[in-house]
Parts: sequence; C-alpha cells; structure tokens
Amino acid sequence: MTASLGEFDLIARFFTRPVRRAALGVGDDCALLPAPAAGEQLAVSSDMLVEGRHFLSDAEPEALGHKALAVNLSDLAAVGAQPLAFTLALALPQADTAWLEAFARGLFALADAHAIELVGGDTTRGPRNLCITVLGTVPQEQALLRSGARPGDDLWVSGTVGDARLALGHRLGEWELAPADQAATFARMDRPAPRVALGLALRGVAHAAIDVSDGLLADLGHILRRSGVGATVDADACPATAALRAQPLQRRRLCQLAGGDDYELLFTAAPAARDAVQAAAAQAATAVTRIGRIASQPGLRLIDAHGQVLDNAFAGFDHFRSA
Ligand code: ADP
Ligand code: MG
Repeated sequence: MTASLGEFDLIARFFTRPVRRAALGVGDDCALLPAPAAGEQLAVSSDMLVEGRHFLSDAEPEALGHKALAVNLSDLAAVGAQPLAFTLALALPQADTAWLEAFARGLFALADAHAIELVGGDTTRGPRNLCITVLGTVPQEQALLRSGARPGDDLWVSGTVGDARLALGHRLGEWELAPADQAATFARMDRPAPRVALGLALRGVAHAAIDVSDGLLADLGHILRRSGVGATVDADACPATAALRAQPLQRRRLCQLAGGDDYELLFTAAPAARDAVQAAAAQAATAVTRIGRIASQPGLRLIDAHGQVLDNAFAGFDHFRSA
C-alpha cells in the first residue's frame, strides 16, 4: 500500500493510455470522440459493481477488472453495437497499488481484445464501487431491441446458462461442487465472455435480444413486456455444461432459469431465419440453442421435454425486492 499515491498520480499511472480512436482521452475536463458516421447511432450503457453486492471484498482484482468491463460490453452485444470507448468511475477505500495493478491488467486485457479504449472517468475515496459507461456504434434501425419479438419467433440462447449461479451457490454454502467443477464454474462467474461478435452477427437476423444478467426467465420477461407478446420455454432444452447436468434436476433448473450473471444473449428470430442464425453463430464461433417460441398470447409458459407444463417458480434477481 502506498499512502503517498495521490488521485492524479493514480490516474496517470494506472488509467492513462494513448488513445487511437478518440481525439482526446484522459487528462482534460472532457474526452473528445469523433461523432458517429452518417447513418450510425451511438449506443450508451452504464453498469456498476458494488462491493458486498456484486462482489466480495476479497475478490481477485484482475477478475474484477475483467468483469466490470465485461458486463458493460455485454450490453453493447445485446443491441448489436460495435464497442468504441468507455469511462471508468472508481471509488476505492485506499490507493492499493497491487490491487490497482491487477485490476488494470484485467480491465485492459479485455479492452484490448475488443478494441475499446478508456477515455476518462472519475476517482474518489469511498467504499469500493466500480462504474463503467460504454459507448458503441450501430447502424440506424439495426439495433437489436427488447421490443422487437414477434409471435411465431423462435427463442434462442447462446452458449450455456446456469454455471454462474452454480458457482455462487457453492460460494454461499448452498451446495458443494466437486473440485473438478469448481474451476470451470468459477471462471464463468468471475470472467464472463461478452458475446459481442454474436450480437454484431445477429444484426438484421434477430428480431429482439437481451443479455442474461438477472436470470433467463426474468430477462425474457423484459422482452415479452416490451414486445407485448408471450412465450413458451422448454426448460430441458436450455443448454447446460456437464457440471450442471450432474446436478439434481431442480437445482439445475433453478440455476438455468433463475440464475443471473451468465451474460449470454437471449434473442428471437423468425423460423425462416434458422439457417441465418446458425451462420451468425458460426461466424461468431459461439453456439446457439433454440429453447422456445414466442406467442401472441401474453404470459410465460414453462414446459419440460415431454411438453408437460411446469410450475414457474423461477423469478430472477431484483436488487430492491430481495434486499
Ligand atoms: P474533473 O475534476 O474535471 O472531473 P478529474 O480531476 O476528476 O476531472 O479527472 C482528471 C482526468 O482524469 C479527467 O480527464 C478524467 O476523465 C480522468 N479520470 C479520472 N478518473 C479516471 C479513471 N478512474 N479512469 C480513467 N480516467 C479517469
Ligand atoms: Mg472529477
């Protein structure tokens, strides 16, 4: 720990890097970015990670740097936007250089992988709190919105869902995972992979999309409400890793349907677009699975592989309801 490291030394040392796409980055009162090209829109989103709420005080700082940016990139992915720049508002209890070094390493590794650059932010002393705002670009009329689902659409999800919740349950002592399953599920929870390439490839193919952060059914609920439609979801069709498939059925369903923090994309597309969806998935090297269907009748119907109707007790996470 270095008590002598001041606010501006800290910013200069850990968060100032040359910018390429921005005209002006960290160091002045505002960053300056080129306006979007004609026919493009700016996509903007913020996500905050709060200690004690989203992560524990002993969370590995490198993973936190990754996750703070990953959850924001996931929002760009969900609308099909190309990442451009981000800001970082940081509250820290002290200027701990080892912590900052590791945090910046995780942050910039993911930033470089997605060619997105840090252009500014704010730094203050306080309970640890990480807030990132991302900016991206998307051609006009092509953003994937929650409101675009149509009756008859297939419902798809990327990757697998439920591992992050499975890891959380182990960490909270709700159940115990075999040692072999811990590393893989912890990685899913701590270092989510934002599906940016898939979001881009789904432009013009998907009708609606959202990223799964609060729970698959809860996030699907947002699509249904905004689109004024309903859906049937086959619980048994939800893609699961081997670690999840080894769990008792009810636990698996809880993790997959109500568990958040997976950051997969949940999207709808016309049945006629199935080949196009698979082509987008191949282009993004991300598997996709069909798990249900959009209907004009409102409400969410949950079924199993035999078509039996299941009781839907899988509400997602809501910060104020569960507080
Ligand atoms: P102001 O007081 O005008 O808001 P600050 O003194 O807070 O500016 O910040 C100085 C510069 O450092 C600004 O360009 C700001 O965007 C940048 N900055 C502050 N904190 C961070 C951070 N955590 N990451 C990146 N840039 C930061
Ligand atoms: Mg400031």
